[in-house]
Amino acid sequence: MPELPEVEIVRRGIAPVIVGQTIDDVIVRERRLRLPVTPQLRQKTRGQQIREVRRRGKYLLIDLEGSVLIIHLGMSGTLYFSPKPPTRKHEHIGWKIGDVFLIYNDPRRFGCVVWSSSAPETHPLLCLLGPEPLSPTFDGIVLRQALKNKRTSIKTALLNGHIVVGVGNIYASESLHKASIHPQTPAHRIGNVRSSRLADSIKIILHQAIDAGGSTIRNFTNVEQASGYFQVQWQVYGRGGQPCTCGGTVRQFKQNGRSTYYCPRCQR
Ligand SMILES: [Zn+2]
Repeated sequence: MPELPEVEIVRRGIAPVIVGQTIDDVIVRERRLRLPVTPQLRQKTRGQQIREVRRRGKYLLIDLEGSVLIIHLGMSGTLYFSPKPPTRKHEHIGWKIGDVFLIYNDPRRFGCVVWSSSAPETHPLLCLLGPEPLSPTFDGIVLRQALKNKRTSIKTALLNGHIVVGVGNIYASESLHKASIHPQTPAHRIGNVRSSRLADSIKIILHQAIDAGGSTIRNFTNVEQASGYFQVQWQVYGRGGQPCTCGGTVRQFKQNGRSTYYCPRCQR
């Protein structure tokens, strides 16, 4: 499932190719995604110039002239360039941009492609999202403020999307390990010092993943496999029973139905 780093890699991969270009044509082959594709997407976006490609949480925002395409990759979505229009199975949408097609492929159809003429920040899909972890405005103070009335565990709080967006299960485990915080610590007990360490750790872990994706993906044009799935060597995630760098042993348990990995020696 594409997480924030994967989506950021997709953004960095497609932006240089499409920004400043005009959408020459749009082919919609399947409208039944998690949300139906906006009716008349072709008429609404054809001839429009692409101004910018941004990301908010796991949403890609393709800014056009006074409107925006909001794209989510769902569970299995990919975006890639192809010299040919979409014809293969699961290739639901194709935008002809210059001499390439930007293809939206999504076998499970859990993603969405929505067009909006109002500011994306006010769109129902985006308006309730928590702070952006990589933004300079997300720091220990903001995090502490958001956590101080939360009775749930810190790991659960990080996953809910209101405290901060885009910190999925892997990144929550890794960030807590980096910040030396036990995943079951009640969120409201995380004070200023640990909040600040945790906010920094979240940024470092996400940047590490983005860098790993960036080095894996060399050429985004015409590369289907480049649309953003990559492996990072994690410190605790997926390493139950193996040694931690501190000399302890990584443990695994279920927390709200999700696997949590941590080191009881260095996370307290
Ligand atoms: Zn350890």
